[in-house]
Amino acid sequence: MSQSQEGSGTGQTTPSASAIGSEGNPLRVAVVGSGPSGFYATDALFKSDISVVVSMFEKLPAPFGLVRFGVAPDHAKIRNVVKTFEKTAAHEDFRYYGNVAVGEDITVEELKRHFDAVVLAFGAQTDRSLGIAGEDLARSYTATEFCAWYNGHPEYRGCGFDLSQETAVVIGQGNVAADVARVLAMPAEDLEKTDMATHAVEALKRSKVKTVHVVGRRGPVQAKFTPKELSELAEIPGCDFVIDAKYLDISDTDQAELNLPQSKSNQRNFDILKEVVANASAGNERKLVMHFYKSPKALTGAGGVEAVTLEINKMAGEPGNQWAEGTGETETLACGVLFRSVGYRGVALEGVPFDEKKGTVPNEAGRVTGAFQMYVAGWIKRGPSGLIGTNKGDSAATVDTLLCDLPNFRPAEVRDDAAVEGLLRERGVRFVSYADWKKIDAAELERGAAVGKPRDNFTDVASMLGVLDV
Ligand code: NAP
Repeated sequence: MSQSQEGSGTGQTTPSASAIGSEGNPLRVAVVGSGPSGFYATDALFKSDISVVVSMFEKLPAPFGLVRFGVAPDHAKIRNVVKTFEKTAAHEDFRYYGNVAVGEDITVEELKRHFDAVVLAFGAQTDRSLGIAGEDLARSYTATEFCAWYNGHPEYRGCGFDLSQETAVVIGQGNVAADVARVLAMPAEDLEKTDMATHAVEALKRSKVKTVHVVGRRGPVQAKFTPKELSELAEIPGCDFVIDAKYLDISDTDQAELNLPQSKSNQRNFDILKEVVANASAGNERKLVMHFYKSPKALTGAGGVEAVTLEINKMAGEPGNQWAEGTGETETLACGVLFRSVGYRGVALEGVPFDEKKGTVPNEAGRVTGAFQMYVAGWIKRGPSGLIGTNKGDSAATVDTLLCDLPNFRPAEVRDDAAVEGLLRERGVRFVSYADWKKIDAAELERGAAVGKPRDNFTDVASMLGVLDV
């Protein structure tokens, strides 16, 4: 099939008599979302023994989702996974439609009309809320918006973060909280040579934040950081890592939890914390302070966050399934800025069933419940958990389900790329092909080289499109 996307098409407007997925009658799949789960699903389809054409739809011109807009800029190695996705994108039966918002520029119903199967891989685009008083005060931010802002996401570049305060609090003890705390506590000069958006580097250079409190509702045995990310917090240049030794005097239940086979990462975390306490540094101007067994109950302040009320917790439950219960005792932690980092949450898409409680699309092994020839992969399938690589197996499992169902598929009504592209053009949608994206990519690399950064990403859609429409 042609490498060129412009005007490409299977040319079939009526279903062929031969089975879908056989030579000459490729399965036509629309993948919604270009993050890891979308690319891994595409790769699994190409590696299957059927004939398949994959069209990937992405809201922004730039692909890769959280690999571009979520991974912290000082974690350049994690972004290397893009090389794997590029190999998938080089497949001759891959089409990319960037700058196309499914639900706005094209509906799910229209995708179903043009594709034999739809794989939803649009991730979890918003944040969980705490549901406490004062959550919406000025200088109370979500980690999701902070990460998207420092990574130059076009929809977040205008977010202002007031970093004029000396004390910051980060609520949550997962890897996103670790990223936020590290970025706040590390020397901004160390971020200058990364691909962090320039507006963020400049703002962080002016930051007055000196102390970052990282608050977990459970204990050091349950913290969700991966060991590497926890170690990094203890190694920030010019920053003391402060943890009260009392937290390391753990209960028998915690010790039993650490002995469980699935607790290797927790055991490593615990060892890291013990090492930190044994070799505590002191006297640095900047400090990162770990708190455990404390849940936020209210944010207070006149005109902006000035303090967070924390309830002291005790643990309940069995080893491996312990949760925090409030004791009724509270303490007040003064702070001038607060970041809520308590997990991402999926957003409903019109025409797709949605579980409001879980923030996911209901499914059985990736098959969307009650929907015909529609599948789901990644965070919008299982919730916001796991590392990038976790999505590989998850997406492959979804593709297995799809392939299992394939003999019962009805062909889509209109099986023609040109029809999809015509629809988008009629609506004035300037869709971006993969070849277009490579031009934007080259321009970003060039801009980066000029200022000694790995790349300098465009932070608005108009500038990205400007590279193409000269
Ligand atoms: P996460 O790992 O689920 O952590 C969420 C944190 O918020 C937990 O400490 C959780 O505590 C806490 N929390 C939830 N609800 C709360 C509440 N009402 N009050 C107080 N605390 C609350 O989520 P994440 O940090 O957003 O990360 C999402 C996924 O992306 C994770 O799998 C993570 O590993 C991955 N990620 C990886 C990297 C990396 O590889 N470098 C970087 C970023 C993200 P409980 O444990 O008590 O629920």
